[in-house]
Amino acid sequence: MTTTEHDDIARRLAAVRQRIRDAEAAYDRETGSVELLAVSKRQPVSALRTAIAQGQHAFGENYLQEGAEKREALAGEPIEWHFVGAIQSNKTRAVAEGFDWVHTVDRLKIARRLSEQRPDGLPPLQCCLQVNVSGEASKSGAEPAEVRALAHAIAALPNLRLRGLMTLPEAVTAFDAQRAAFRQLSEQQTGLINDGLALDTLSMGMSNDLEAAVAEGATMVRLGTAVFGPRPEKPS
Ligand SMILES: *Cc1c(COP(=O)(O)O)cnc(C)c1O
Repeated sequence: MTTTEHDDIARRLAAVRQRIRDAEAAYDRETGSVELLAVSKRQPVSALRTAIAQGQHAFGENYLQEGAEKREALAGEPIEWHFVGAIQSNKTRAVAEGFDWVHTVDRLKIARRLSEQRPDGLPPLQCCLQVNVSGEASKSGAEPAEVRALAHAIAALPNLRLRGLMTLPEAVTAFDAQRAAFRQLSEQQTGLINDGLALDTLSMGMSNDLEAAVAEGATMVRLGTAVFGPRPEKPS
């Protein structure tokens, strides 16, 4: 990676952090209450190193093989690894063994396997239940109507710690429509907290809808290209 590429990442990261601070200020959120998850899929290890040097520690990966290679290359760095990709049931072990967090749990079968396969000696796997707030058949995520039962069942699993809800809504440009989708997630979360679940994480908001997500209570926004620039075609 060239000096220019390093500078670009440092500059983008600073701009993204400012954008988050501005959104916090604009929507009466406490300064520092919204965390940046840098989604580093298909970015080279050198790009992550640059972000680490700028104080970024939470990284999101979508692909298991690529995630494993990066963990090995960056062993010893103070990184919190988040899995944000789709999970097939035959892939749960790699998630349970290699990640600190998973944002894409959307059914009980997957949650049970993750809990069973979480190695002894590791802390519980921190997880978010992914919810399909847009109601599109093609998108993954639990249906809103099943969230309550699912959240309680997941919260009872011994080796998972349910931290909250995640969504990846349909991309819309109107700010009010973006807010309406995020509000559904935040209302679901409030209902679960009122039930007695100790949830503190709302994983929602990407580069095109970060402000709407922060306005509706996001605690973790997931940004990739806004931090790293365009993704290379192939993992490197
Ligand atoms: C890739 C991805 C992101 C980041 O997307 P960008 O367009 O690179 O900002 C966020 N969340 C999830 C679940 C992703 O898969």
